Amino acid sequence: ILKYYDDQCKQSKEVFDEAQKYIPGGVQHNLAFNKPFPVCFSKAEGAYLYDKDGNQYIDFLQAGGPTILGSNYPVIRDAVIDLLQTCGPVTGLLHEAELLIAKEINHCMPNVEMFRMLGSGTESVMAAIRISRIATGHKRIIKVGGGYHGWSDQMVYGLKIPGSRNLLESHGIPRKCFALTDEVRPNDLDMLEGFLRINRLKGGTACVIVEPVGPESGTRPVAAEYNKGVRSLCDKYGALMVFDEVVTGFRVALSGAQGYFDVVPDLTVFGKIVAGGYPSAGGVGGKKEYAGLMAAGVATGKHRAYVGGTLAANPLSALAGYTAIKEIERTNACEIAGRAGDRLTDGLKDLLARYELPFVAYNQGSIVHLECTGAMSYDFSSYLFVKSALGLLKYQDIMTERKDSMERMGAAYMANGIVTLAGSRLYTSMADTDEIIDEAL
Ligand code: PMP
Repeated sequence: ILKYYDDQCKQSKEVFDEAQKYIPGGVQHNLAFNKPFPVCFSKAEGAYLYDKDGNQYIDFLQAGGPTILGSNYPVIRDAVIDLLQTCGPVTGLLHEAELLIAKEINHCMPNVEMFRMLGSGTESVMAAIRISRIATGHKRIIKVGGGYHGWSDQMVYGLKIPGSRNLLESHGIPRKCFALTDEVRPNDLDMLEGFLRINRLKGGTACVIVEPVGPESGTRPVAAEYNKGVRSLCDKYGALMVFDEVVTGFRVALSGAQGYFDVVPDLTVFGKIVAGGYPSAGGVGGKKEYAGLMAAGVATGKHRAYVGGTLAANPLSALAGYTAIKEIERTNACEIAGRAGDRLTDGLKDLLARYELPFVAYNQGSIVHLECTGAMSYDFSSYLFVKSALGLLKYQDIMTERKDSMERMGAAYMANGIVTLAGSRLYTSMADTDEIIDEAL
């Protein structure tokens, strides 16, 4: 592997060496880090990426999810170039593309009656929480341990590793910023009900926010009935149910995870794909009575959930997103990418069995996971909320081992011409033909 990097990635190394002087850590994006150094990309097309040295890679990173049509998809690119020539990147006024995307999302997910486009998934989660607090008059928010909902102060809690509280990922956040955030074990409805019940004495629960395929885009998969269970508990305790569909929206199905699991959330958070993989991408929507609170004001007698963003819903993002969703619908991209995901997963399972490797492969359609068996089999009940430092340490050890192992795996993939998300997640796209999947296997 090291030989590949030394011999084949000389120009990438030069860029990275220089970048370390000007960019913290030498990378602008957490996903870009790969051991021994990140490869510098210069071209993207369909199922493939190309680095500065001219090496070709199959792209299973897909920018963290949004390019389900394949990279640099011509129809979106052409629409964006056309618009750039007439209107430039930004107006700050209403552009028709904003209406087009809101209507298209409503067409795919009828429950999203109104939609406000924002600049990122992180901001959109912040907006959903704000709306929930106004709508319910409650204060607390509950997330599922390990889930990623962006990097706002109140959500960097139990991030990536269930039970880690704010200990592992970020410092610099005063305790009070996440004092109203609760974390529950993945898949544990009894624990969720316990928190909802106790929270009635502590200001009430404004919302329960979930990634519908399980925390970290399904790295901890949830049982098929879990989302329905969350729905009925939210109804019972007067909390809003928020689906974070930043990754699953227009990927697991055109109707998102809400269609896939047949569950109607109160609010849905979007990211990435609502700008077709272009910047800046995010948004929140739902039933009128909730989503409408983003525009409420003195005139309506209701409190208003203020949201903003200079580049939010700029014409380019809105048109790119609208075009992407229309194309996903026209081409059946979710089904095609899902079949590629099934083929990749089946092939990985065969390889793991044949070589008796300590990994588990599974998928939710086009979201494919390859995990260490140890990390998957850990029983969270031994440490969460029981203040057992030993339990947490043990889990951290396993997760550190996992991280090392997956990082080495990620580097090995690269040296063999495959880009993944940190070695453990592989997104498939419509551009992944059977031949490409077989080549990857
Ligand atoms: N929620 C989920 C499920 C995500 O995967 C992400 C981004 N990876 C976010 C929220 C945050 O979105 P953004 O990076 O656009 O802030």
